[in-house]
Amino acid sequence: MQDIKDKGILYVVSGPSGAGKGTICSAIRSIYPELNYSISMTTREPRIGEKEGISYFFRTNEQFEELISTDSFLEYAKVYDHYYGTPKKPVLDLINDGQSVLLEIDIQGAMKVKEQYPQGVFIYVVPPSLATLSKRLYGRGTDTEDVIQRRLSEITKELSMAHKYDYIVVNDVLDIAVRKTCAILEAEKCKLSRNENQVETIFSQYINKEVSSK
Ligand code: 5GP
Repeated sequence: MQDIKDKGILYVVSGPSGAGKGTICSAIRSIYPELNYSISMTTREPRIGEKEGISYFFRTNEQFEELISTDSFLEYAKVYDHYYGTPKKPVLDLINDGQSVLLEIDIQGAMKVKEQYPQGVFIYVVPPSLATLSKRLYGRGTDTEDVIQRRLSEITKELSMAHKYDYIVVNDVLDIAVRKTCAILEAEKCKLSRNENQVETIFSQYINKEVSSK
């Protein structure tokens, strides 16, 4: 019998800026090196230490808009004046090939992915309090006062989107948040609906009594 692969899983980690989704995703990537990570495209300037094709694909507005016009994004959004987008083809090719992909994107983008690909797993990362969020945004030292204030003012609207997700991870103690995220990944991998072909292959051996030893 020919094995037909089940599709890979699209994991979407999202949440307010400063929730710690980047840190959680870095930990997940080192725990699951086989998990594909989608490198986003952006029109913002690279920060110190960021590398083309590793942190992001850095593009001009014109280049980005050209790609929008050719429907090359699974989703894209304007986040604080800059475009960010997930290149469509590499993600869908991997999923169709049975490989799973992790996206770390903002809330607008996650909702667009959900419209197009509702069978994805949508994980909302939230900081334990507004005070913690504010401390993290100031602490990481990457944004101006103006940007931080805008990010904080978006929080009420962003929190109201949480109920559209499948899972919520409160990122208070990082290790615990990472452990919870791993548990979500593992549980989703075991869902019967995601393993129909594999189950069929295994069960058919029992039915056909394909016993090799003895
Ligand atoms: P940063 O500029 O700090 O790297 O990212 C700003 C925000 O953009 C973060 O919330 C990050 O998750 C989000 N982001 C990064 N890549 C993408 C993407 O491909 N699509 C969308 N919609 N948001 C993204």
